[in-house]
Amino acid sequence: MLCLGIEGTAHSIGVGIVEDICGKCKVLSNVIKINRPEKGGIHPRETANHHAMYIADLIKESVNKAQLDFTDIDLISFSKGPGLGPCLRTAATAARALSLSLNKPIIGVNHCVAHLEIGRGTLDDCEDPVLLYTSGANTQVIAFAEGRYRVFGETLDIGIGNCLDKFGRTVGLDFPCGPQIEKLASKGKRYLELPYSIKGMDIAFSGLLTAAEQYYKRNENVEDICYSIQETTFAALTEVTERAMAHTEKEEVLLGGGVASNKRLCDMVKSMAHDREADFFVPSKNLCIDNGAMIAWLGFLMYNSGIRMRIENSFIDQRFRTDMVDVSWRD
Ligand code: AMP
Ligand code: MG
Repeated sequence: MLCLGIEGTAHSIGVGIVEDICGKCKVLSNVIKINRPEKGGIHPRETANHHAMYIADLIKESVNKAQLDFTDIDLISFSKGPGLGPCLRTAATAARALSLSLNKPIIGVNHCVAHLEIGRGTLDDCEDPVLLYTSGANTQVIAFAEGRYRVFGETLDIGIGNCLDKFGRTVGLDFPCGPQIEKLASKGKRYLELPYSIKGMDIAFSGLLTAAEQYYKRNENVEDICYSIQETTFAALTEVTERAMAHTEKEEVLLGGGVASNKRLCDMVKSMAHDREADFFVPSKNLCIDNGAMIAWLGFLMYNSGIRMRIENSFIDQRFRTDMVDVSWRD
């Protein structure tokens, strides 16, 4: 079965095509276009306009790269949420148009669950992980328990990627700032004290962001600030992930989301996993960022388990929570 997935929750519009090979996911194509605003953060309507401009070409490109014809596609899936309303609606509209014109079924999927399933689908031996999902807007620690993907801990305010991007913007870096902060951090030498706020199993980053910006205003060295931000935020994320692993007694940890490309975050989580004698997994970078292939794969899993969606019910849900999904494709 071949499934084409359209991702469009925030800054990126992506189209991926996947094939099911005996329960594992083979990615045939995965193309993406990222909106990089010249100044400021992501403006929902302008980003949706960006997505509308590129989506038709991306769909054609994904089919060409997979060396398929449109008629080979069996299923269309799209990111139903969570995300920015105008962006979600643009991706869903494209998915509906494609479903109607090809006369193929459509299915809307949860973006956060897709980040987890693409790890299970593409990585050998990754079967029942705790996912540390570190994106621009989302930061959650997710694991499967009693028929659902439950959120064991999450950010109470801003996502980790958003925290890095906001600090980056303050110091004049271009979006996305995470990779540049990583480079600066690697040259930092001095740890500057920052608030480390974990409340129960949840995390807050906005106090830390304010404190980091104050260091910058006081002319502290930017490399040292970046280093301190990474050390503090990543330690907090690793702590919550470890506690979720201990609570659920799971022996696998998986990273997902754009911030998972950060080597320091990977090293910290890997060393925690090593201490617990657990397995550590991280998908390839193009499957960690927001992408169409993961949406396609989750669409396939849902469809294959008997879930169906009528086109008149294929609406989006900006506040679609991870734990709202009835995970009927797993036991
Ligand atoms: P996503 O929303 O999952 O597509 O991820 C985008 C976020 O990942 C942005 O906030 C980026 O700044 C961040 N990001 C990308 N690469 C890195 C990196 N190497 N280190 C830290 N953050 C990163
Ligand atoms: Mg994401």
